[in-house]
Amino acid sequence: MLSRSTVSSGLLRPLTNPASSYAAARGLLRVRGLASEAGAYDLAVIGGGPGGYVAAVKAAQLGMKTVCIEKRGALGGTCLNVGCIPSKAMLNNSHIYHTIVHDTKNRGIEVGEVKVNLDKMLQAKESSVKALTGGIESYLFKKYGVDYIKGEASFASPDKIDVKLLDGGETQVEAKNVIIATGSEVTPFPGIEIDEERIVSSTGALSLKEVPKRMIVIGGGVIGLELGSVWSRLGAEVTVVEFLGGIGGAGIDGEVAKTFQKSLQKQGFKFKLNTKVMGAKREGDIIKVEVESAKNGKKEELEADVLLVAIGRRPVTKGLNLDKIGVEVDDKGRVVIDDQYNTSVKNVRCIGDATFGPMLAHKAEEEGIAAVEWIKNGHGHVNYEVIPSVVYTHPEVAWVGKTEEDLKKAGVEYKVGKYPFAANSRAKTNQDTEGFVKHLVEKDTDRILGTHIIGATAGEMIAEACLAQEYGAGSEDIARVCHAHPTLSEAFKEAAMAAHGKPINF
Ligand SMILES: Cc1cc2nc3c(=O)[nH]c(=O)nc-3n(C[C@H](O)[C@H](O)[C@H](O)COP(=O)(O)OP(=O)(O)OC[C@H]3O[C@@H](n4cnc5c(N)ncnc54)[C@H](O)[C@@H]3O)c2cc1C
Repeated sequence: MLSRSTVSSGLLRPLTNPASSYAAARGLLRVRGLASEAGAYDLAVIGGGPGGYVAAVKAAQLGMKTVCIEKRGALGGTCLNVGCIPSKAMLNNSHIYHTIVHDTKNRGIEVGEVKVNLDKMLQAKESSVKALTGGIESYLFKKYGVDYIKGEASFASPDKIDVKLLDGGETQVEAKNVIIATGSEVTPFPGIEIDEERIVSSTGALSLKEVPKRMIVIGGGVIGLELGSVWSRLGAEVTVVEFLGGIGGAGIDGEVAKTFQKSLQKQGFKFKLNTKVMGAKREGDIIKVEVESAKNGKKEELEADVLLVAIGRRPVTKGLNLDKIGVEVDDKGRVVIDDQYNTSVKNVRCIGDATFGPMLAHKAEEEGIAAVEWIKNGHGHVNYEVIPSVVYTHPEVAWVGKTEEDLKKAGVEYKVGKYPFAANSRAKTNQDTEGFVKHLVEKDTDRILGTHIIGATAGEMIAEACLAQEYGAGSEDIARVCHAHPTLSEAFKEAAMAAHGKPINF
């Protein structure tokens, strides 16, 4: 029997899959039938992150008897608990502080002494997290009737899941279909032990007890730059050590990456590119980091008060008994799926960070909906060509579609339509003119193949590019759409005008 505290009864989209070519090559592509007759639940979802909870809500909305099993004790997964949401809370509040301290003089605002109250800033972050995670349990799952089991799941068989309940005891869930949505965890750096105090992962970097004087970040990807920004704005001297020759991680356009790096340098960031971290050790309250140039082998020892290890994330599949039931996992720990999210075991699917593709919350959500629609309706779709990426620094960086490097490599003839925010009236009024909008447009067809934005609200503005690319818009289509004045989005339109003719204001 399930206890009341571990089960809360009550009863949360379709789009070519990066896994499909892999799966096809391995002979995994096939169409699966709908659920068998066995089992109490139509669907059990393992993991309550953005992939899992969205899949559970969608299934319930489609009339499936659904249960979601989550071991964290709170819904929302990495994203809501230790990822997207807490990082954005810290980014927003540190940006406000930084603006007040550094950017009021020419705005007619006089401020007195301004101080950081880190405890309160951390509390504000925690209350946003609690409100959102609690809302899924107390509102969404109840509204749609998703059963929620707090505990750790492992497969007894493809349709039976053993759960170690968080408040003690065990139970078994029977389900006709199972979606594995167990997400990802921090990739450890071999030989560097994370204590979440002085040597931290992203999780520890969201809760530092004091602002470090010096912080070293291993990894110049999105997470390292966002969290580095938080602590840089609050006063830390931040040095990013990156093995590659540029920052911003996979998929960023080269021109944008260079502009972004210059912008962060102006803010005080130091970068050590083409540099390998060889090891790090804690000596009292100091962290000594040994680095070596990837170009000439020159060694150096760096010192910091806090070291953030941000070299990526790896799928979580351990403990699920996947080998016992025959679910195939690749050499990177990703669950192997076909283009309908089927694993190598009938009626067991996988979505989100635990399988292929970019590790992004919105990608996991789209897959959650598509996987449920495959189960229920026999079709589902995620357009993997149109998955946006955003770096929530200031300026923000956002992109969707192909980069110039992608197009050159593929031999596609393209035009560039680019417009600087320095020529946009709203950006000038806001005294925030850094960056540009850049559309990459196919020469023959005028179709937008990629949009890259660096600027104050790039993360919001990229939605227009997603819509345009989803519907195959040309740059002329965008140029002929009326955009409100004065808005930063006018730069989006002017960049489109720049691609097929001339912008008006530049
Ligand atoms: C610092 C940081 C910032 C980020 N910022 C962004 C951002 O701004 N935008 C964005 O799109 N993405 C961001 N991400 C990435 C995003 O958090 C992930 O891509 C997203 O959470 C993946 O969703 P998921 O549902 O696949 O997995 P997860 O969110 O990892 O959820 C999986 C859940 O499954 C549970 N689980 C695992 N094993 C079991 C088991 N055996 N039994 C029961 N439960 C289990 C886990 O406890 C977890 O809660 C960020 C990540 C980090 C770390």
